[in-house]
Amino acid sequence: MEALYFTGAHRWLAPLLGGVGAILTMHHVRPPRKDAFQPNRLLEVSPEFLEDVIRALRRARVDLVSLDEMHRRLKEQDFRRRFICFTFDDGYRDNLHHALPVLKKYEVPFAIYIPTSFPDRAGELWWLTLEAAIARHSRLALVMDGQDRRYDCDSTEAKYELYEHIYWWLRSLPSEDDLRRAVRDLASRYGVAHAAFCEDLCMTWDQIGEIAADPLATIGAHTVNHVMLKKASDADMRNEMQQSASVIEVALGKRPAHFSYPVGDRTSAGSREFRIAAELGFKTAVTTRPGVLFPEHAAHLTALPRISLNGEYQQRRYAKVLLSGAATALWNRFRRVDAA
Ligand SMILES: [Zn+2]
Repeated sequence: MEALYFTGAHRWLAPLLGGVGAILTMHHVRPPRKDAFQPNRLLEVSPEFLEDVIRALRRARVDLVSLDEMHRRLKEQDFRRRFICFTFDDGYRDNLHHALPVLKKYEVPFAIYIPTSFPDRAGELWWLTLEAAIARHSRLALVMDGQDRRYDCDSTEAKYELYEHIYWWLRSLPSEDDLRRAVRDLASRYGVAHAAFCEDLCMTWDQIGEIAADPLATIGAHTVNHVMLKKASDADMRNEMQQSASVIEVALGKRPAHFSYPVGDRTSAGSREFRIAAELGFKTAVTTRPGVLFPEHAAHLTALPRISLNGEYQQRRYAKVLLSGAATALWNRFRRVDAA
């Protein structure tokens, strides 16, 4: 099992080498948990997996570089060596305890993108509220599109199904306010301590400062309230981006030069956001649109693709595709630059 898993990791990295470089996305880094219902499992990798990836990349003689160095290479079209950037979204405390020791051991530069409401302890990690409500109850009722809906979720399978169903309904709502209202309602109705997730899982400003002091670290901005920017008004969108940089500057004494769009897919960041990120002076901004970097990305530095490193979860889900050798074909289907 172990051998298959590690072989999988190496194979999985092969398509990364298609372009001049790539940016990896991670969230939590922590030992795996045993719970049967983990719908957000795709947001975590184990410290061992992180270490294995670093070793595989070093063996493949890929440069592991900071965002500033990536920016320089793209600007100067310096592609003598392939490069990878490690990025972590949201500022989870496990990054300090489980990722930092590994990154320091191998001297790997990395970036952490902070939504400032998380260390300010006003953040809403709504996807975890939804997970907790479904995990702790065998029946759930909520108002969806003006109608009372009731669901049974007494098995793990039913819980997964219901999570997907409600998650994508929430994501489809026209505004982030609608989404937050629905989740707050769920939290109060099902006794989920909505506000506790920040305290339990996210770094404090002191802890972020501790990481920021490491020469390997880059601290980037990730909005204030972790909102899907594309659904926000012009003013709110601009404010979320600018304000998050200002708050980080005040807290850490250095204005962040790099930005990550929350959620980061097509529904949450598009050409308007790419333009404003550049206008606000960010050197780079990253999406979660999948892809590797090409020389042409020098002209689209605030619309950069990333590759989600979902670790074991991704292994399990895509192992068949990857092992069939279809992965490269799949990657080649992506347009080289997707910045619209
Ligand atoms: Zn995020």
